[in-house]
Amino acid sequence: MSQNAVADSPTGPADAEELRRESVRLETELFDPRHMARAERVERAAAALGLVDLELRARLVQADILLRSGETAAGGRTARDVNRWADANRHQYLLARSHVVLSRFFRYLGDRQRSLEDAVRAVELTPDDTHPVVRFDHELTLAVALSMTGSYAAARRRYGRAGQLAEAHGTLRHRLSVLNNLAYCEYEAGNAAASLAVARRMQTLADAHDVVLPASFIDTLGEAYLANGEYEAARAALLRVAAPDAQVVTTEADAVASCLLTLAEVYRRVDDTAAAEETLDRCLALSDEGGLAEIRASALLARAHLYAGQGRYREAFEQHLVFHREWAELHQAESDARARITQAVFEAAEARQDSDRFRELSFRDPLTGLYNRRRVEERLPALLAEAAETGGVVAVAIVDLDHFKQINDQCSHETGDLVLKAVAGYLGSAPAEGGFAARLGGEEFVLVLPGDDSAQAVRRCEKVRRLVHAHDWAPLTGQLPVTASFGVAVSSADTGSPADLLRAADQNLYAAKRAGRDRVVAAPF
Ligand code: GH3
Ligand code: MG
Ligand code: MG
Repeated sequence: MSQNAVADSPTGPADAEELRRESVRLETELFDPRHMARAERVERAAAALGLVDLELRARLVQADILLRSGETAAGGRTARDVNRWADANRHQYLLARSHVVLSRFFRYLGDRQRSLEDAVRAVELTPDDTHPVVRFDHELTLAVALSMTGSYAAARRRYGRAGQLAEAHGTLRHRLSVLNNLAYCEYEAGNAAASLAVARRMQTLADAHDVVLPASFIDTLGEAYLANGEYEAARAALLRVAAPDAQVVTTEADAVASCLLTLAEVYRRVDDTAAAEETLDRCLALSDEGGLAEIRASALLARAHLYAGQGRYREAFEQHLVFHREWAELHQAESDARARITQAVFEAAEARQDSDRFRELSFRDPLTGLYNRRRVEERLPALLAEAAETGGVVAVAIVDLDHFKQINDQCSHETGDLVLKAVAGYLGSAPAEGGFAARLGGEEFVLVLPGDDSAQAVRRCEKVRRLVHAHDWAPLTGQLPVTASFGVAVSSADTGSPADLLRAADQNLYAAKRAGRDRVVAAPF
């Protein structure tokens, strides 16, 4: 199957199963900015099919890409919106996914504590039947957050789990990325020997598969050698990235500059001042080119150390002054940006226009894409008020599937869900303009039919009833038939509240059930 087949097919919208598979691919393949276009296609196709969960999963893939391309506020907003929606709709998978993206959002923002809180929530909420590579993603995100907050023992355990998942279900890149992060964690924890042992395993694994490590991974390896005083090995490793003619596989813009910084430190330790100075010059040039303020500041500091080691105190002092000024500016700018982004994402939320889609979705039932009970509660009173004013009527029909429990019990809950979706499809196309279908909960639905008198509403319901009855359910439910019962009620001058009208419809539904099911019962005229 070509990766771009989704929604591109000239025969119309992609089918739900293919969209679902494409969503899983997007969630499990390693990060690639080119996934943006695919995720947008899935979002549109899912929205067209009313597959809200897939639409929002695609939005989260986009949020992740935005975060990693430096669009922190935009990525954070989407993650927050999906998180709120998932919370309101008790959608566990989307809750877990949105927390993991929020954890990364706070990590990019430098807020380690909140990054950890979201990562913990993500892992807690991850459903048992989640794809193992997605579980890997959640475990790894938690491990990184633990490591960044100094909880090294807990981080090690999570790296262990992530490693097992990567081993059993992931690709080589997944396994390498666990080792790279774990080596860095050990380095941060001050365990130089452990860090090097892990980094070597990473290198061995890459060699065994004839794979070139990305620059950021080689930087980890170089740091590990350096921390163990193995300068020659550090130099050899780093030169693979830092030599002027090196063939580099980069994942982050600053990885090569960071390798140069580490290499300069190696030269300084072995008293090769000229090479250290030349390497720092290259590092500074690259930092300026790429706007890498943090690495630039670190390189200035390294240069001050280098001068001081040579007894060039005046130059060392001057370099230190420049470093200090740039460092202070950088941190001021970062904390301003952090405040601005946090404000944009978490405080100025309600006034924002791009939340409209989420407001709309808050009235949707995630399983079927029909409206939900909230929508009925909001819309029915207004329709009844309009009808009362213009002398019109509003019919409602409550629809309940017959012996639905048997389908769940004898087939499966998943089959039950598929039946619900299929019936929802028939219900959704029943109302005329201005009316709508909603899922009240479970296997109970309502049709809201403004302008329909009783006979008209009964005709409409009969049509749906026959379609459901005649549908070929055998592939889903085998021997079990699927039918539905309908209770119709129509507003009149002396109809009380919307609740009264719904109650009248419910009584007729009950009558339909008692009379043998698979039928439509309306209020007496
Ligand atoms: P009756 O003809 O009297 O309506 O019988 P019934 O079995 O349909 O009625 P009952 O209310 O006893 O059972 C409804 C079942 O619907 C119970 C529950 O297992 C199932 N159900 C509720 N919500 C969902 C859902 O979201 N998905 C699935 N698959 N099943 C659901
Ligand atoms: Mg039922
Ligand atoms: Mg029921």
